[in-house]
Amino acid sequence: MTGLLLLAGQLSAQDTNPFFTSWETPFQVPDFDQIENADYLPAFKEGMKQQNMEIEAIIQNPDQSTFENTILALDESGKLLINVLRVFYSLNSANTSKEMQGIARKVSPLLTKHRDDINLNPELFTRVKAVYSQKDNLGLDDEQQRLLDETYKGFVRGGANLSAEKQEKLRHFNKEISILQLTFGQNLLAETNAYKLVIDNEADLTGLPQGIIDAAGETADQDETTKGKWLFTLHKPSLLPFLQFSDNRILREEIFTAYINRCNNDNDQDNKEIINKLIRYRLDKAKLLGYNTFAGFVLEERMSKSPENVYNLLNQIWAPALVRAKEEASEIQEMINDGESPFLLEGWDWSYYTEKIRQQKFDLNEEELRPYFRLENVRNGIFYLSNKLYGITFTEVTGAPKPHEDASLWECNEADGTHLGVLYMDFHPRASKRGGAWCGSYRPPSWQDGKRIAPVVTIVCNFSSPTADTPALLTSDEVETFFHEFGHALHVLFTNVHYRGISHVPRDFVELPSQLMEHWVFEPELLNEYARHYQTNEVIPADLVEKIEKSSTFGQGFKTGEYVAASLLDMDYHTLSAIDTFDVLAFEDQSMKKIGLISQIPPRYRSTYFQHTMTGGYTAGYYSYIWAEVLDCDAYQAFIEAGDIFDKETANRFREKILERGGSKEAMEMYVDFRGAEPTTDPLLIKRGLK
Ligand SMILES: [Zn+2]
Repeated sequence: MTGLLLLAGQLSAQDTNPFFTSWETPFQVPDFDQIENADYLPAFKEGMKQQNMEIEAIIQNPDQSTFENTILALDESGKLLINVLRVFYSLNSANTSKEMQGIARKVSPLLTKHRDDINLNPELFTRVKAVYSQKDNLGLDDEQQRLLDETYKGFVRGGANLSAEKQEKLRHFNKEISILQLTFGQNLLAETNAYKLVIDNEADLTGLPQGIIDAAGETADQDETTKGKWLFTLHKPSLLPFLQFSDNRILREEIFTAYINRCNNDNDQDNKEIINKLIRYRLDKAKLLGYNTFAGFVLEERMSKSPENVYNLLNQIWAPALVRAKEEASEIQEMINDGESPFLLEGWDWSYYTEKIRQQKFDLNEEELRPYFRLENVRNGIFYLSNKLYGITFTEVTGAPKPHEDASLWECNEADGTHLGVLYMDFHPRASKRGGAWCGSYRPPSWQDGKRIAPVVTIVCNFSSPTADTPALLTSDEVETFFHEFGHALHVLFTNVHYRGISHVPRDFVELPSQLMEHWVFEPELLNEYARHYQTNEVIPADLVEKIEKSSTFGQGFKTGEYVAASLLDMDYHTLSAIDTFDVLAFEDQSMKKIGLISQIPPRYRSTYFQHTMTGGYTAGYYSYIWAEVLDCDAYQAFIEAGDIFDKETANRFREKILERGGSKEAMEMYVDFRGAEPTTDPLLIKRGLK
């Protein structure tokens, strides 16, 4: 922080921009109470200016290029900019506004240009190359060696070796891509928030659990125009139970159709044209850089290495998943046929009848579980697990600034009291938050002057909200999601890498720590700790736990099927090697027909709301979850083999070989360091009941 202060001193004295001062807050969390929208743009501009000056100093250095004066200096540049970036983009996802979206549209092209100015700076690249060419004679340690390799590769992949004319083209493509990605996400948020299913007749609520009806009533009461009625939305905690329980087939069809047609309504928020351009620009960029496809360009940097390897894994899983999905469809159709007025199974019936079959087969009602999954109890269960495995503790911090009043802040310490970092948790949906659940950081962990700078981590979810007379009671999926995001948080909290340039983890490896956590969710030993009835404090009954276990592979045809279908759709878009304008819906249709997806199952995300792949985070990367699942299923076996699911030694090996290492080593090498061998797909297929 001293460097920041020093630079801030050069600014005008009356400048009160909170980004130009050191934050006098607990754990130096961002001073959310002081930051105003008007502060961002000047802070972004100043951040870029400072980094440009730092880079100019590297170039102008009269000494020969060395690791320290070039690679390290570059790695340490841009601190203010990164600070602003982290705060702005984290908040823009969790608590956005029209003004913030406007700033994002302004700043996005500036940032793209700034990154290109660095990547395409010939003098800077000359210096980097000079260091790289002597890489074996510099006496670097493993992390430094890796930083040098990654820095050099970053320049090459960023276009440093292209001709000036091609570099101009690349700049154009990057700019267009960043704007298109941003617009896609903004359209999706607007369209998701716009839809309302208003019910004013109580008879239309039949089948819905009382808690869901109450929540819908409270949502409706927030708005004068719907007061006294019931309001359902496209946010998951509202949508999913409606599809699962509502007896009203016509309304199920209405909300389902609205959901799967988001940003496909030929209005201002339509994303089809955006996808069309985006896919073409991405391909143009890949070709310019010497790759045949965009996936080829992206996957080179991932654990999977090539599109062939990804298709290979997905196809292995797709075949048994489709067989199982078709069995599930016939079972549902049979149940429909046994009813009073049979009809053909449609997408909006799937969840409803699946729930009925689950009740019939396993005598298990999803709603029976919820009272045992009070949000606070689940959170305590996660804290308990983290403590058993790693000895760490979490203590609530009050009085610190927060990104939103709903968030809470927690301090994480080692067993011996050493501070590891702090964690915000923000659980429930609101219009200013994008959909889904994610983990990010307001300040990543780093090293400065021989000291570790502890991270400020955040988990943001869209879980079921409390109602006037019930606390937040989670569905089992939400419980799994909570464990998942917490696994990401642990990864960040434990990361202990000395250089920023090698802290980044490949997308298809980053889901290992998160998904590993999911393995503990329904372990009876842990359920006995946290799954307590919110009213009676009674531990979840053993017969209910047994039913959960027995039904664990139930419905996997659908779940695996919709997921793999979306992963293949993402890959199909990004393995195109030649393309003119195209019809997005026709492309999607053809892609799904090719694999024989049945009409009642849409891919988990259809193109127009496939945020993961279209906004950039998981481009040619939605497969990552199942790629990492091969790893996490195999990794969990290490705990089973140790004879104790809380085995500290295994946990510490996992922490030391993987969680602490960031991207400082090849992913598979880290995995083998932990496990002693590469994983096989068997434990995954068994867990999903597909083998
Ligand atoms: Zn994840």
